[in-house]
Amino acid sequence: MTQSLPHPALAAADPELAALVGAEERLQADTLRLIPSENYVSTAVLEATGTVLQNKYSEGYAGRRYYEGQQNIDLVETLAVERAKAVFGVEHANVQPYSGSPANLAAYLAFARPGDTVMGMSLPMGGHLTHGWGVSATGTWFNGVQYGVRHDTARIDFDEVRDLARKERPKIIFCGGTAVPRTIDFAAFGEIAREVDAVLVADIAHIAGLVAGGAHPSPVPHADVISTTTHKTLRGPRGAMLMSRATHAKAIDKAVFPGLQGGPHNHTTAAIALALHEAAAPSFRDYAHAVVANAKALAEALLARGFDLVSGGTDNHLVLIDLTNKDVPGKVAAKALDRAGIVVNYNTVPFDPRKPFDPSGIRIGTPSLTSRGLGTDLMPQIAEWIDRGVTAAGKGDEEALAAVRGEVAELMARYPAPGLPIAG
Ligand SMILES: *Cc1c(COP(=O)(O)O)cnc(C)c1O
Repeated sequence: MTQSLPHPALAAADPELAALVGAEERLQADTLRLIPSENYVSTAVLEATGTVLQNKYSEGYAGRRYYEGQQNIDLVETLAVERAKAVFGVEHANVQPYSGSPANLAAYLAFARPGDTVMGMSLPMGGHLTHGWGVSATGTWFNGVQYGVRHDTARIDFDEVRDLARKERPKIIFCGGTAVPRTIDFAAFGEIAREVDAVLVADIAHIAGLVAGGAHPSPVPHADVISTTTHKTLRGPRGAMLMSRATHAKAIDKAVFPGLQGGPHNHTTAAIALALHEAAAPSFRDYAHAVVANAKALAEALLARGFDLVSGGTDNHLVLIDLTNKDVPGKVAAKALDRAGIVVNYNTVPFDPRKPFDPSGIRIGTPSLTSRGLGTDLMPQIAEWIDRGVTAAGKGDEEALAAVRGEVAELMARYPAPGLPIAG
C-alpha cells in the first residue's frame, strides 16, 4: 500500500490531523483524478506555500505598503507580477486576489455599481456562479443577464450574445466558464463588448495553463481584463490574478486593495511566482499541448463506446458527458466511479431536463493525469474503465467497481504524481 509523506512536526503536534493528511496523500496517489479544475502542483510549489512568508502582513503594493519590514516581500511580489506579465504578455498584473471568485468580485467593484447590468454565461450552460448567476452575490447585487449555447451545436450563439448586449447594454461582459469544452472566441466577444461599450472580462480560470502554454488562443488582444485562478491548468497554488492593459491598472489595484481585501497571502504569492517560472519553461508548452491531446484522445475513445459528448467532443482539457442515453443519472455515475477509484464530478448539461443537484452529466478533464505523465495511448483504457464504471453504476454491481478500482491503482502506481508519495 502507498505510504504517506513524512510530516514529523505535524505528526507530533496533531496525530489526528496528520493521519487525515496522510490519507489524502494516498487517495491522490492511488486514484485517477479527472476533475478538470484540479491538478498536482510540483514539490517546489508545495514547499513555497509552506514558508515563513505566511507570517507577514503586507497591505498595499510593492513600494507602497502600510507595514514596515517588507524588504523581501516587495521583491517576491514584484517577481510574481513581472513573471505574470511575461508569461501572458500583459501590461499589468495583480497577484493578490485570494481566489477566482474574489478576483471576479474585484472586477465588478472596479467597473460597475450595484444595480448595474452585467452579462455572462449562465451556470447551467457552463458559466461560473460569479458571472451574474442568481444565488451569487454577483447576481444579487447586479442585474445579471445571461447567455447560453445553441441547442443544436451546444456552442455559444454570437448572434444571441450580440442581440442581448445591444438590448441590455451591460457594463461588463464575462466570457469563459467552468464546463466549456470548446475554444473561447475572444475576438468575437471583444467586438461585441466594444460595440456596446462594455468592459470585457475574460475569465480564463480553467484554461490559463493552456493559454500560457500556447494550447489555447490568448485573450490579450481582445479583453480589457483577464481574470484567472492559479491552481487549475496553470498548476500553481490556490490563488488568482487579475491582468489588464495599463489603462485599467489603477482601477483594478484599488478594487483588490483596499476595495475588497486586506493583506495579501504572501506565501501564496511566492508559490504563484514559482508556478509562473515553471509555466515559462519549454516543458510547460509540451504539458499544455499534451493535456489537449489527451482530452481529444479520451473524447474519441468515449465516442467509440457510444457516449454522448456535449458539443460532440473537445478543443481543450475538458469533456462533458451527457449520460441520458446510458440511462444513468450523473450523480449515480459519479459516485460509482468514485468507488472505482475514478474521481469526477456530476454536472448539468446544456438544456438539462434534470435538477442541478441531480443532473444528467459528468464532467471530466485531463490536467491531473497529464501531470503524472499518462499519454494518449492510455486514453482508450480510461474510456473502458469509465464505460465499465457507468454500466456497473446502472446495475449496482459493486464487484465490477472494485475490479476497476484495482486496475486503476495498478496503473497509477506506475505514474508517480508530482509532490506525492510513490504509489504501490
Ligand atoms: C474556478 C473558477 C472560478 C472561481 O475560482 P475559485 O478559486 O473557486 O473561487 C471563477 N471562474 C471560473 C471560470 C472558474 O472556472
